[in-house]
Amino acid sequence: MKLYDWKNGIDKNELNDIVNSLNNEGLIVFPTETVYGIGTDALNEHAVKKIYEAKGRPSDNPLIVHVSDMNMLLKCVKNISDIEQKLIDNFMPGPFTLILEKSEIIPYAVTANLNTVAIRMPSNEIANKIIKSFGKPIAAPSANISGKPSGTRIDDIKEELQNKVDFFIDGGNTDIGLESTVVKVIKNIPTILRPGAITPEDIERIAGCVNIDKHVMNEVLSNEIVESPGMKHKHYSPKTKCILIDIKDDSRRIQTINKYLDEDVCVIGKSKDKTKIKTDKFIDMGDNLAEISKNIFTLLRKADSLNCNLIIIESVEPEGIGLAIMNRLIRTCGYNVIR
Ligand code: AMP
Ligand code: MG
Repeated sequence: MKLYDWKNGIDKNELNDIVNSLNNEGLIVFPTETVYGIGTDALNEHAVKKIYEAKGRPSDNPLIVHVSDMNMLLKCVKNISDIEQKLIDNFMPGPFTLILEKSEIIPYAVTANLNTVAIRMPSNEIANKIIKSFGKPIAAPSANISGKPSGTRIDDIKEELQNKVDFFIDGGNTDIGLESTVVKVIKNIPTILRPGAITPEDIERIAGCVNIDKHVMNEVLSNEIVESPGMKHKHYSPKTKCILIDIKDDSRRIQTINKYLDEDVCVIGKSKDKTKIKTDKFIDMGDNLAEISKNIFTLLRKADSLNCNLIIIESVEPEGIGLAIMNRLIRTCGYNVIR
């Protein structure tokens, strides 16, 4: 395993090494504007299978295919509708993934046997340059062992992935910190399957309508069919048990949290609650939603490293990117929410 530091720019010789590796079924960890990805040649079934293995990812959970431009996108999909085209024109490149009908070049290993493929065009300069230089799409899920919090900086994931990939490319902390918004157009209505930095309001403004799949904020019951296989699986979980406190009233929230506290409990909470929560294991999640989104996965890992019996997490308003934060936190806590 080699680590390349591109925080201050892309090194041409090292880029050649990366492209050579991808041409030889290599796995690379690389930055995007959302989270780090673990990527490989999307058109090579054998390489793609290595990703599922490296992550311990269930084989029924398809991967997102990353492209550098419209030409590459058009090779991967068929039958783009007017509304899908509008979404592409407005949100790509960016933290946005669209589920489209797949073309023949995309192997079924990428889509977990579905006839649709998830397509994203990252705006991050390093991600875009790697895909463009490789000349082919890159299949990449988030860079983490399946079920764990996603990686938003190399230091958080180096240990768990070091024997499983060929290269780490360090591009510094990722900007957004949460995975892309995943959308499928169903009966002409853009439907959010996973919320992200492109919000329902953003989509409605462009498309005139938007739906949020009910499983974005609700647990999938065993007999239910889901639009996106990822909804069924365990996600974003530290090894320590977590509880989400979703109480708006300030004094009832603080009282409830304080009842749980002992030396084996840590709290990931809002800056404004810091002085009222009586613990020396308080981890400040930040003051605004953008900051919380950027830091939350690193903070979950930090809380886990304290080896407590319990992590208490404060909820955020599910507005704007807050919906995406809450979607992740509910799963982090295994739907264990106190309201
Ligand atoms: P990750 O790789 O962790 O960013 O997760 C990718 C998400 O996109 C998962 O929730 C997948 O289930 C979802 N996904 C990928 N491909 C498809 C598809 N063809 N249809 C529906 N959801 C998909
Ligand atoms: Mg993931």
